[in-house]
Amino acid sequence: MVVIVGIASFVYANKTPKNPQQLGTVIRKIEPLKAEIPKADTVTASVTAKPSTEISSGVIITEKGDEILVLINKNIRLPETYEPGDLVSIDGLVKTTHSGLLLRAEAAKALGSITKAAKDEGVNLIVLSAYRSFWSQQATFSSWVGSAGLAAAETFSARPGHSQHQLGTAVDFTAESVNLGLTENFTQSKEGAWLSQNASKFGFVLSYPEGKEAITGYTYEPWHWRYIGVENTQRMTQSGLILEEFLQRYGVI
Ligand SMILES: [Zn+2]
Repeated sequence: MVVIVGIASFVYANKTPKNPQQLGTVIRKIEPLKAEIPKADTVTASVTAKPSTEISSGVIITEKGDEILVLINKNIRLPETYEPGDLVSIDGLVKTTHSGLLLRAEAAKALGSITKAAKDEGVNLIVLSAYRSFWSQQATFSSWVGSAGLAAAETFSARPGHSQHQLGTAVDFTAESVNLGLTENFTQSKEGAWLSQNASKFGFVLSYPEGKEAITGYTYEPWHWRYIGVENTQRMTQSGLILEEFLQRYGVI
């Protein structure tokens, strides 16, 4: 097992971004971990793909999109052509705002489980967005830049290649109680509260927590959950780290 976080550390430590506002404060050295994390081979997936490469302006293109613990952020992106090989439809597994949404098979299975568990407790989760291709993300980001301006768009929408949605393991949840929108009010909703309490049991973690904008580069997104598996979720919770920090230490690039 090899952890390639060293590449990120090198970049974070030695590269001066040409546009710090664009790259956010993700460019930083992570302090040594104080919490005790048990060592296990399973935390880091095997590294088999070709080496990831650094392109201009301190941005790395990772070839490890298939790895469940791949780190994607404002500095590290997927190739334009990356698409998971095991995408499946989530139609029928969960109520969605529109049909034809896709996720990787393992994440879809977990989504089916979490949806059923929620329903059993009277909570109706609805999925608004799941897998998005590079090109779909480009359209999404461009649309936000058009309506909100570049600086604002950077705080809540990922540039193409930089979105966890391209991994096929990220889900945006919504609910009738928030009018099927993506809003911070989701936190106070029955559905948002239920997810906060229970999502980890099914291997889903919040990617962009409240008050962690300086680390993630994104504003609080209570609706955006990424699947990393139950065991990794337990390890992350135990570490006290948020996903971005956890993947910088234990993920792959
Ligand atoms: Zn999202």
